[in-house]
Amino acid sequence: MSELTTIDEVNEFFDSAATFLKLDSGTRDLLKNPWRELKVSIPITMDSGELKVFSGYRVQHNAARGPYKGGVRYHPEADINEVESLASLMTWKTALVEIPFGGAKGGVQCNPLELSNTELNRITRRYTHNISHILGVNRDIPAPDLGTNAQTMAWMMDAYGQTYGYTPGIVTGKPVQLGGSVGRESATGLGVFLLLDQIATDLNIDVSKTTLAIQGSGNVGLWTAFFAFKRGFKIIAISDVNGGIYSSSGINIDELKNYLNENKSIQNFPDSDPITNADLLELECDFLIPAAIDRVINEKNVANIKTNYIIEAANHPITPEADKILLDKNVTIVPDILANAGGVIVSYFEWTQNLYQHKWTEERISNELQTIIINAFTQVKELSYKENIPYRKAAFILGIAKVVEASKLRGFLDK
Ligand code: GLU
Repeated sequence: MSELTTIDEVNEFFDSAATFLKLDSGTRDLLKNPWRELKVSIPITMDSGELKVFSGYRVQHNAARGPYKGGVRYHPEADINEVESLASLMTWKTALVEIPFGGAKGGVQCNPLELSNTELNRITRRYTHNISHILGVNRDIPAPDLGTNAQTMAWMMDAYGQTYGYTPGIVTGKPVQLGGSVGRESATGLGVFLLLDQIATDLNIDVSKTTLAIQGSGNVGLWTAFFAFKRGFKIIAISDVNGGIYSSSGINIDELKNYLNENKSIQNFPDSDPITNADLLELECDFLIPAAIDRVINEKNVANIKTNYIIEAANHPITPEADKILLDKNVTIVPDILANAGGVIVSYFEWTQNLYQHKWTEERISNELQTIIINAFTQVKELSYKENIPYRKAAFILGIAKVVEASKLRGFLDK
């Protein structure tokens, strides 16, 4: 794979938009560099009695538009470089969809699949405690990401509350019983689906003949599949970390959900054939939806990608090198900072509900999510057509311009 690190790659996308906006090098430095990075050690007594020390990070990238906001991931590759790049994506994402937050990301370098619940609880509490002095309802609000979920947020809220008192707005993506929002769990998948459906409407295509391949069946992949299936799209493949399943006639996602509940895995789902994660990406399909980890489409496999549309449900699933090649082949790419923004949009609704201790209905959540994400998509499409540039570049330009504007108003930039 290319020698570039993830942060170099995200900055390549940034620079292409910054050039369009004619930003000088000082402004670029201000916007590229995180405002604060914190690395902490997390010593934990494992269930075996052995002491292990994990590394944890919180990168606060930019807060010109509001408090830092972004998820926490538990993953073996969650190092400072990855967390920094994901934090910057949050800055452009929250700006693009115009919600009043900046960007941040957290991570603990561990493999949650190899840890027990009690070990995860201890790691989460110690991590929260060690970064708590830089968090705050009006300062920095974590949320779930890869390898974390509502239970992790419940532990974070509880650990924070032990020092600072009851503070539900300190995290989003909590269980509903603890002040979480209805519709938050499905929000990222719903956002991906709303964009997919909008494209289908724009193109006036018959959804029952439209094929989808989805890499990943975690929170994002599975909810995307669920909404798309309900609408009548044909999902020909879906996967988890161990591999995927394929069916040319389409997978029944309602039945797959039940199967997953019973078997804890999608493997061997009836009337489907096994497929590897690598082969899934190379399937001939109308829409390819990477909804797992970063950099899965890169210089090694890009020549074999056979789709017309890619919707980036995962963060940074395509390297800049692969991105260029796909654009040359006229593949339309809906970029991560738009495609998966549904999660942070409903996090904003959850935070708002926590601030004034009032509950919104699921219908209100879905309607307001739809208004925000489709409005952002319309802006991206308009700029893309007007300037003849790809959606990603248009999305970065719109997001960066809003952060520049806020920076000027706050007095960080003179002109
Ligand atoms: N982790 C999600 C993301 O990458 C959600 C962040 C949030 O809700 O703050 O957008």
